[in-house]
Amino acid sequence: MQQITVPAYGKINLTLDITGKREDGYHELVTLMQQVELHDDVRIRLSPKKRISVLSDHESVPRDAANIAYRAAQELLCFAGLDLTGLNYGIDIFIAKRIPVEGGMAGGSANAAAVLKGLNRLLNLNLSTEELMRIGLRLGADVPYCIFGGTAVARGIGEILTRVPSPPTMWMVLVKPDFGVSTALVYKNFSFHERLCRPDLDLVLNGIERGEIVDIYRGMGNVLESVTLRLYPVLQDIKRRLADWGAEAVLMSGSGPTVCAFTRSPELAKDLCATAQRNFPASYRVVTTNTISVGEEGNISARAEY
Ligand code: ATP
Repeated sequence: MQQITVPAYGKINLTLDITGKREDGYHELVTLMQQVELHDDVRIRLSPKKRISVLSDHESVPRDAANIAYRAAQELLCFAGLDLTGLNYGIDIFIAKRIPVEGGMAGGSANAAAVLKGLNRLLNLNLSTEELMRIGLRLGADVPYCIFGGTAVARGIGEILTRVPSPPTMWMVLVKPDFGVSTALVYKNFSFHERLCRPDLDLVLNGIERGEIVDIYRGMGNVLESVTLRLYPVLQDIKRRLADWGAEAVLMSGSGPTVCAFTRSPELAKDLCATAQRNFPASYRVVTTNTISVGEEGNISARAEY
C-alpha cells in the first residue's frame, strides 16, 4: 500500500467545565466530547523524495513544520525508531479542509490523529490505539481524543478519556463567523469568577441513557462561552438569532467561535441552515452536520501518559 486517505472528524463539546488550574499553567477540564460527521480528508502518500511535505486546499493551513500533521508524522517516525535519511521514501500529506480553521472544533488535532492512524497502517507499524494516543498527547491535549473518537468524557487536560454511550443522532447547524479565535487567548482571559453557563454532565449522561434529548439540551453548557462572547460580542447576536429561527439549543464549541444550533430532525436542520445562509454574511461558514458514534472499543477507559 502506497497511499491511504483517512477521514479526520471534527468535534464539539456538549459540556465543558474547568475545574482547576495546574502549576504548569494548564487548566483541568471535565468535558463531554462528541465527534461530528463534518470531516477533513487526510491523504498520506509514500513518495520518492525523502522528506515530509504538507499541502492543503485551504489557505490558512500551514504548509511546513508549523502544521501539526507534519509534526505528527515526525513524532510517529521518531517513536518507531525510523529516520527518513535511512529510508527510501518520504511522506506527502494532503489535507482537504472542511472543518473551520481556528473554530474550536479541533481541526488540527483531528488531522494529527489521522496522520498517526494512517501512517501506522501504511508503514505496518502495528502500534496500539493507546500507543498512538500517547504519541498524540505530545502534539496537543485534544489529539488523544481525536484518536479515541466517538463520545467520551475527557478529564485532566483532556487526556484522561472514558468512553460513554453516544446520544441519539443529533442534528446541528454550525455557524463560524469570518474570524478565528486563539484557544490560548480564551484560556488566558478565563477566570473562575466568570464560570457562567456551567454544564450538568450527569443530566446529559442521564439524558443520553434514557434517550431524553431535552435533558441533554438542559444539561449542556460551556464555561468558556462567556469569555469568548465577551471578547467577540457578535457571537451573542449569532446565538440569539439562531434561537429565534427555531434552534432547540445553541452552544459554542470549545473556545469558539463556532456556534452549534441543535435541532431534532435533519429537515429542521436543513431549514435552519438555509435561513442562516440567507441572513448571515457570505463570509460566514454555515454548514449542517450530525453527531456520529463509534462502538468498537466498547466501554473502556484509557489514559495517555503526559
Ligand atoms: P482547538 O479546537 O483544538 O482549539 P481549533 O479547531 O480552534 O483547535 P485549528 O483549526 O486546529 O484550531 O487551528 C489552530 C491553529 O493551528 C491555526 O491558526 C493554524 O494556523 C494552526 N494549524 C496547524 N496545523 C493545522 C492544521 N492541520 N489544520 C488547521 N490549522 C492548523
